[in-house]
Amino acid sequence: MNQQPIEAAFRGAAVREPIRIDWLNVVGIGYYHLVALLAFVPWFFSWTGVTLAIVGSYVFGTLGINLCYHRLLTHRGFVCPKWLEHGLALLAVLSFQDTPARWVAVHRRHHEHADEDPDPHSPIVNFVWAHMGWLFVRPSEMERTQIYPRYAKDILRDPLYRRMENPAVYLGTIIASWGVFFALGTAAALVAGSAWPQALQFGASVLVWGVFVRTVLVWHLTWSVNSVTHMFGYRNYETDEESRNNIVVGLLTNGEGWHNNHHADPRSARHGHLWYEVDVTYLSLRALAALGLASKIAEPNRHRLAAAGRLQTRAENPNPTPP
Ligand SMILES: [Zn+2]
Ligand SMILES: [Zn+2]
Repeated sequence: MNQQPIEAAFRGAAVREPIRIDWLNVVGIGYYHLVALLAFVPWFFSWTGVTLAIVGSYVFGTLGINLCYHRLLTHRGFVCPKWLEHGLALLAVLSFQDTPARWVAVHRRHHEHADEDPDPHSPIVNFVWAHMGWLFVRPSEMERTQIYPRYAKDILRDPLYRRMENPAVYLGTIIASWGVFFALGTAAALVAGSAWPQALQFGASVLVWGVFVRTVLVWHLTWSVNSVTHMFGYRNYETDEESRNNIVVGLLTNGEGWHNNHHADPRSARHGHLWYEVDVTYLSLRALAALGLASKIAEPNRHRLAAAGRLQTRAENPNPTPP
């Protein structure tokens, strides 16, 4: 990477206009991290809570963010019944990564300008900016009124996604889920015969681990796609940005870390192109298809790659060894 884009991006992010702090993200992301630290306090521990954090990162992160926000709503890599789409989108909303329209708009802008000045979260500024720094400020060019007409018109045709643009509805949905986790945890303990003090402790552990630890975990997994996989890893395709396939991020994010493949063929719902590029999100989609709940799955398209003028390198070898 040369210096010019770094300076240009820095000017774009910090100097070109007065900075507006995104207080919702500053307070929200700060608050979630603080509450998640309660995981280190033994009183909040339960194995059920730990299990909920791990399983929840699959349910909310993989099915909500990866499959719905990213591969379905942003890139239209498959179709599924509306009730299922809305259910998956609700899981994504509860991951507190912004509304469907805004997530999609930001990500489509990323693809259009990847690693150039208008990219909302490129590490050409620096690693921390790409990972989470970009979330704390909102340049005027990233206001909803600026990006929605170009990037999110199709999403906003859906009345449910339009309603989510109301902050009271969006935040209310997230905060209501805190109550649901706490109440279900407490009720389950009471039904199992616990006394009230133990039941409340169990409910609190379900809330801390099942909501706050899980959300923070999914955040850093999603964010590592924006930061790590635009800096570290190998490239199967000579794309015109800095995207990489990163084995650690690829496995931990259940497939989103095969990011160079994804930039080379954004529509494909399958991000793992080589035998060792395990893509659990795609496998989950195939499972939905086997149940008759998903169809028209976009597979990696060699013609699309060739038409885009991209050179296949590693992927041309039918039996490559992992780097
Ligand atoms: Zn990218
Ligand atoms: Zn994408």
